[in-house]
Amino acid sequence: MSGRRIFINISDKIREILDPQLCLDCGITLPSGSGFCRSCQADFQHVSNPCHLCGLSNVSSGTICPACLHRSPRWDHMLAPLVYAGSTRQLLQRLKYQQQNEVAAALADLLASSFSQRSVQALVPVPMHYSRLIERGFNHADEIAIQLARRLRIPVDRHLLLRRRATLPQSGLTPTQRYRNLQAAFSCAAQPAYRSVAIVDDIITSGSTMQVISQCLRRAGVDHIEVWSLARTLRD
Ligand SMILES: [Zn+2]
Ligand SMILES: [Zn+2]
Repeated sequence: MSGRRIFINISDKIREILDPQLCLDCGITLPSGSGFCRSCQADFQHVSNPCHLCGLSNVSSGTICPACLHRSPRWDHMLAPLVYAGSTRQLLQRLKYQQQNEVAAALADLLASSFSQRSVQALVPVPMHYSRLIERGFNHADEIAIQLARRLRIPVDRHLLLRRRATLPQSGLTPTQRYRNLQAAFSCAAQPAYRSVAIVDDIITSGSTMQVISQCLRRAGVDHIEVWSLARTLRD
């Protein structure tokens, strides 16, 4: 072993002792690097055979589920690899409410290969209204987009989409009221510099926010719209 290699090994050992890297899920010490231990990595639940449009498990043999064939969403492709449950749910809550940015980095490491098969010109994080941004201190969608962008070498555009107002509480509203509430919340830059983008968020639940944003981007002239999220809420 060369002298340089021995030096690197010793400095790695010293770093492990002084600043041990722990699995972000179970907390055991990791031999090197950061993120998740092998056991926790294997435990993440991925959506099985996801529909390319809604991200939910597709029971048919095609790439698009029967529901999306009947009524397509406004975007062209969705990727939301993890099921929003168990440790994925806990991790995303730690990112969102405790600003544990290392969670976004570790999940981006885990999922980058799923997203690398897609091709878009820019990542557009779902914006947060400034009043909420002041309250929370950061936008978790920005952090996810930044971490994915670093690994995939795609620029992040935080100016293409604007949050004009904070969304009113959605509970208790009819579907039409919810849609109008959301529609008034977003606007797009007049002349987007990109023809294809991916809107980035942490979780897809009903998809109504993405419908409104996609419509906005489409009207502004974006041809190809993808929705990228770390996790998908499954229907009951
Ligand atoms: Zn672990
Ligand atoms: Zn579908």
